Parts: sequence; structure tokens; C-alpha cells
Amino acid sequence: MSEFKSIVPVLEIEFLSLWVMKVTRCFSLITVLFIASSVFAWGKTGHRVVGYVAQQHLTKKASKQIDKILTSYSLEMSGNYLDFIRADTNYRFMNSWHYVSIPDGKRYEDITPNSRGDVIAKIEELILELKTKDFKIVKDEEFALMALVHLVGDLHQPLHVGLAEDRGGNSIKVQWFGKETNLHHVWDSEIIDDQQLSYTEFGNHINRGIDKSLVKVWQSTSVRDWAHESQDLRGACYDFGKFTNLRYRYTFRHLKTVETRLEQAGVRLAGLLNDIYG
Ligand SMILES: [Zn+2]
Repeated sequence: MSEFKSIVPVLEIEFLSLWVMKVTRCFSLITVLFIASSVFAWGKTGHRVVGYVAQQHLTKKASKQIDKILTSYSLEMSGNYLDFIRADTNYRFMNSWHYVSIPDGKRYEDITPNSRGDVIAKIEELILELKTKDFKIVKDEEFALMALVHLVGDLHQPLHVGLAEDRGGNSIKVQWFGKETNLHHVWDSEIIDDQQLSYTEFGNHINRGIDKSLVKVWQSTSVRDWAHESQDLRGACYDFGKFTNLRYRYTFRHLKTVETRLEQAGVRLAGLLNDIYG
């Protein structure tokens, strides 16, 4: 009896430590998934805003053709596809497509591009394949179109043209209203989600009264110009100094940049699609 009594606490302790291990593992997995998810892109709303704005600037002819090609998603929703497929290890080779690392003081032409591909190279290749209908880097036109919608969005997020040493801000730990996160995720999602708007509301807000001559100016620039704009904007993302709990003041300083970049991405995506299908 006394032996049994002494075993019980041991069993309890073992059970407890097993439970703690399981919970720890579970949290580790969540952390890994969270970090992985923050590496890739504007959040879901951001990509939908880009597609929604693009839809407003398409020619009728282009819009009709795109509708026929996109069988599973609307243009607005198609931008999320490249994030959804991350769950499939067969698509892991595309991970480097979402960003490009360019050091300060250099331009894309000065660096040795990532041999696995980067966001600039893949956008340029997708445009070519959509024009020639010769699909090599992805399996078909629908996939190429959905990838293009996603990557044009990504390229306009300043930290997707980031510094390799901090993985585009993913290694910069900050808080968002006290919640642990990282700088990249703040730019992908937090500032946008904080507005509490649907993607259509957000899209209508930023696209309201857009000047046609500005649309032309934005559309006349190249994919590499868009990347270098992001590169030039990224420095300001780090302007919080020691105050790493980012809150209202940070949003106030940067919301306009987020809005402009989403609008530019949508307008330019439409320019590309009108050129291909218009
Ligand atoms: Zn992405």
C-alpha cells in the first residue's frame, strides 16, 4: 500500500511532464507555422484588395477573358492561391518566389539573383508565359494568372524587397498592441486588419477618385521600378527606435504608404492584364 502511494505522485509527475511536453510541442508547431506564414505575403485581405482594385481598371475584353480562365476563384480571391498551396510540400520550391533580397545601396541589376527564383524574375517570366501561352514554370494559364496576381501584390509590400540579414523584417521582433509578432507581419497584415474593413470596402476607399493620368504614369513603369520603389520605402518601416510596441502612432505614420502600395499594385496588375488580354 505504501509502495502504491509513493508510485502515484511519480505517475502524476510523469503524466504532467508528458502533458507539458505535448503542449510545448504544440506551441512550437504553432510558432513555426506562424513564422512560416508571416514570411510570404500581404495577408489575405491585402491580396484581395489588389485583385479588387485591378478588377476596377480592367478593360471589358480583358475582364471577360480572365473570367473564362479563372475557374475556381474570382480575380479578387485568386491572389490567395499561392499562399494556400504552401500547405503542399510539392510547391515548396516556390517559397523564394515571394520576395527578393537586395542590400542597401545596390539595385537588382547589381546582385546575383537567387538561383531558385525571386519575385522580380518570376513576375517577368509569368508575363512572358501568359503572352506566349507557353507554360513552363507553372502548369497552366490559370495557375500562371493566379501566381501573377499574388506576386505583383507581394512586390509592392516594401519588406518583400528586404534585407537578407533580417529576412525582410521577419527576424525583427516587435509587438502589435502588446501582442508578440514581427515587423514583416505588421506590414503584411496588422496595419490592414486594424482598419476593420472588408477587401471591397478597403479597395473602394483607396481607389476612390483615382486620377486617370496617375494610372497611366503608374502603369508606364517596369517591374524592376516597382521593386526599387519598395526598396526605397523599406527603410521607413524601421522607424520605431526602441519603442517596439507598435500601436496607433505607427499606423498613423504608415497607413498611407500601405494604401498607396496596394492601390499601385492593383492598378499595375490591371495594366499587365490589359496588355495580355485587352
Ligand atoms: Zn507571397
